[in-house]
Amino acid sequence: MTIRFAILPLFLALNLSMCKKQQSVSPSSQQAIASATPAAVATPVAAASPKITKPVVDQTAQIIIFCYHRLVDKIRYPGTEITPAAFEAQMKELKDRGITVIPMQDLLAWKRGEKTIPPRCAVVTFDDGWKSQYEVAWPLMKKYGYPFTMFIYTEGVRGASLGGGEAITWEQLADMRDNGVDIEGHSATHQDLREGHTIMIANPGGKKTRTKLTGPQYEEWMQNEVVGSKQLLEQRLGIKVNCFAVPFGNYNEHVKEIARNSGYEAMFTVYGQPITFTSPLDSIGRYAIEANKPKVFEDAVKMIATSSGGGAAVAEVGAKDLTTQPADGETVRTALPLIKANLSAIGAIDPGSVQMRVSGLGVVPASYDPKSGTVSYQVTQKLHEKSCSVIISAKSQGKKVETHWTFGIEEGATAGTGTTPIPRPKK
Ligand SMILES: [Zn+2]
Repeated sequence: MTIRFAILPLFLALNLSMCKKQQSVSPSSQQAIASATPAAVATPVAAASPKITKPVVDQTAQIIIFCYHRLVDKIRYPGTEITPAAFEAQMKELKDRGITVIPMQDLLAWKRGEKTIPPRCAVVTFDDGWKSQYEVAWPLMKKYGYPFTMFIYTEGVRGASLGGGEAITWEQLADMRDNGVDIEGHSATHQDLREGHTIMIANPGGKKTRTKLTGPQYEEWMQNEVVGSKQLLEQRLGIKVNCFAVPFGNYNEHVKEIARNSGYEAMFTVYGQPITFTSPLDSIGRYAIEANKPKVFEDAVKMIATSSGGGAAVAEVGAKDLTTQPADGETVRTALPLIKANLSAIGAIDPGSVQMRVSGLGVVPASYDPKSGTVSYQVTQKLHEKSCSVIISAKSQGKKVETHWTFGIEEGATAGTGTTPIPRPKK
């Protein structure tokens, strides 16, 4: 028996997610969802390096991507809200630290090897389509001249089945589109897209059901969530949608495959980490900024901004020239790797100036051997993320030099001793 699932206005009462624009969601449930670690288990994959015949872009650039939700004066749901003042302070800090806010499409063009970007960049995104993004965030973004991306779930637009009074309208989205704002996809109903998870559906006749879809019924539902919502955005706004923010950041290989086959060029999670040239495009991490976790923003900025003065000239050195361990793009089987780089290719180094930063740890007490030119650090605290970025900076003849690279950590890696590389998948 095939059931056709129609999207009907009866979603109104179905408040499952933090993103439904209704007032009946309790703060505690919002926080619980917002703070849940994405359970999706995607095998960490070191992306196959894009084939570039001539190096036209700066492959050492790094980008941090921020994800915001609502801007409100009085915080009620700290998991998804931030005050306009705190938001503006963060936008100002990016400027002060010399981090360039670039359009999402520039990031993708860079990944394709078509366009170069500044060494340190940020991309700002807003999820779910709240009217405060139009009324409050947009004017602030204009003030700083920053581009940004809106991730919209189509049933959450005002007047649709999940779009309450705080939701953005299609007219507001059209206004943003006309002024260069990038509008991208975030599903139809903002639910967990993995097969077998309990979701809400509305059946013909108005009956709403909590159910677990499997097999053909699940696939049919997914088509509307991933493809239908994309087509609706494209047709309603006359745009091309090539980015997909996965609701709650919950995905698996099948979800990724459907999104890829639907013409999405990049998929986004809420798994914040600096994006490098080799970061896989199907699981790009974003830092979700919450009112009660200001450290998330600070840590993200620190990951790529090593000069507090902002704009100080830093020479970038490609990690491949420095014989790093683990190598850039390599995946290791231990969460306690030995991190090493040989800096002798840089030239004379001021030994006291060598600094190593590791994502998730910050500055680490690395040791530098001037004789061999090697800086090394044995990680003593398990790395929890599936990818790890290392930034090494030093002074050479009075000039600041920096290199960074990213390696992967095999899912479920235990505290082993070796750093045996696993073969990189062929694409
Ligand atoms: Zn969302």
